[in-house]
Amino acid sequence: MESYYDRINRQQNTQDIEDVAEFYQAIDRGHLTKKLSPERPYVYFTMEVYDKTNGIKGGGGLGVLAADTRRVAETLEIPFVCVTPFYRHEYHQGIYGLDQTESIWGVNPEEHGFEYLDDVEIYTEGMPPARLNVFQKIFSSTRFLTIGEANFGELYAGDGNGDHRLYQEVSLGFGGYAALKMVGLRPAVIQLNETATIFAAVARLDELVHNGMNLYEAIVYVRKHTLYTNHTLVQAAESEFSYDQFSRIVMPNIKSKALKTWLSGLFRDGRLKLSTLTIELAEAKNGVSRLHARVADYQDVNGDKVKFRAVTNGIDLDTWVIPEIVSVYNEKGIIDKFGLPSDDYKERLDDLKIDEIRGLRKIGREKLNQVLEHRQDQYGNPVYIPEDATVFDFKRRFVSYKRPLMPFEDISILRRILEENNAHYILTGKVHQGDTEMRTRLNQVLKLIDSDDLLRERVHYIQDYDEELGFALAAGSDIAINNPIVGLEACGTSFMKDIANLKVLISTADGGVADLSPIACLEIVGASYEAEVRSLYEQMLRAARIVKNDTWYEGQVRRQLSGYLPVISGARMMKDYLQLVFGK
Ligand SMILES: *Cc1c(COP(=O)(O)O)cnc(C)c1O
Repeated sequence: MESYYDRINRQQNTQDIEDVAEFYQAIDRGHLTKKLSPERPYVYFTMEVYDKTNGIKGGGGLGVLAADTRRVAETLEIPFVCVTPFYRHEYHQGIYGLDQTESIWGVNPEEHGFEYLDDVEIYTEGMPPARLNVFQKIFSSTRFLTIGEANFGELYAGDGNGDHRLYQEVSLGFGGYAALKMVGLRPAVIQLNETATIFAAVARLDELVHNGMNLYEAIVYVRKHTLYTNHTLVQAAESEFSYDQFSRIVMPNIKSKALKTWLSGLFRDGRLKLSTLTIELAEAKNGVSRLHARVADYQDVNGDKVKFRAVTNGIDLDTWVIPEIVSVYNEKGIIDKFGLPSDDYKERLDDLKIDEIRGLRKIGREKLNQVLEHRQDQYGNPVYIPEDATVFDFKRRFVSYKRPLMPFEDISILRRILEENNAHYILTGKVHQGDTEMRTRLNQVLKLIDSDDLLRERVHYIQDYDEELGFALAAGSDIAINNPIVGLEACGTSFMKDIANLKVLISTADGGVADLSPIACLEIVGASYEAEVRSLYEQMLRAARIVKNDTWYEGQVRRQLSGYLPVISGARMMKDYLQLVFGK
């Protein structure tokens, strides 16, 4: 049986388009054939990519988004370059004695088909230059350009405001920009996936000024060609660095004196937030869902409120949806050859009948069991879910705002829901290193489960959450639970994987789910935490009844897809970005 990674590797695009010009026409942007070319591509800088098929393991949604964006560009044949570190170390989670442990595994680009190009140098005051290896991997119109060295450290290593993190960010920005020049590319636009990538725009600015452009003209030029994508809600949470750190780690990489002076002028009380710098250098700015763009509270260097546009994240359907379902979407004309929902997709969803839905869900369940067979639960054992059982799942990082343990508030109710419905509950997600509070909570819940015969049989915590598990649960569980505190999830994409795979979603009205109002799934509501917990249990009972009833289930699947298919479509996200950056 083909594994998840083999399938993704095979790059089986369901779309069949002649040429990217066709897509540009379809989105009413015919002029893009003149703006984007193989030598002048769309360039995407990101500190994180989650694409284990190509050897790059991420930490969460930001990396999944980056990997999906490149895959969608590849399918649409858009000239696109993703510039990112290749970390030689990656984190894995294990559970021993019902407690989380972390291990770091080595990895290198050559094992994953990357080609070594050359080195770039990064300068730090008082140190010999650091030599970073540039590796490339090309996939038709797109490529990864990666930078890294043996001591680069792992993703999000150390303190977010520390010297090493700044070194990683400077390396990506200046080193990545030099790598683009090395392969003869000039960006048509630079998309900054979060502010940690801002040094790419600084490097471009420095080059323009060094080549003789006046600093202020250069700033205008860079602003016009830079897009800042924000995933963080409050500016207070953004990293900041001291003037001393900048002098030692950033400035030695800048040639222009005028630029150094300008940068120095942005410091307040000896500190500079990268978000402040990013806001100065990017004209187009977006949040990653409607709600997020509305509530993101940022000020520019003068204290004026920043306006964010909304481009809700989407997913690459070929990556996250079982191929059998994608084929049905295509055959029924629910999505078009670009991966966009067709004009009449809502009517066409009426062709999706319960027998077909159940047949597809059965295939999904088999895929889930295939993956669970080589994974480990909290006791180190594989799990098998019987075909006739109903499965609930929670799969996302264990951070407090996502409230992973909410269903365990009253285990007598949870026990009853699982027992009466022949249901299982699968959880997976890593606690962040250093989050002792969540780690303690997780340990308590694992012990609670262990102390109860029924829960021990039916609640499975699967170790080391990753893409394979994310896909398997999207494909083979029945009911997904997404319950972030309203206002705190920037977008979230796992709910999209769930809906696209014909599951039932239970969610709070947050992130991308709240792009629709009212939301088009089973909603968790409540004026207090206790009320939300009650609402969650009610919706779990309701969902369990829905999946057993043909009419209700068919209706629920259609209602969710009818609302969210445009949100979910990665091609729609690409269309939105192209329209935002390049206008008419
Ligand atoms: C889809 C996915 C994510 C994104 O999840 P959200 O919490 O919904 O943003 C993170 N990690 C993995 C492994 C995924 O597959």
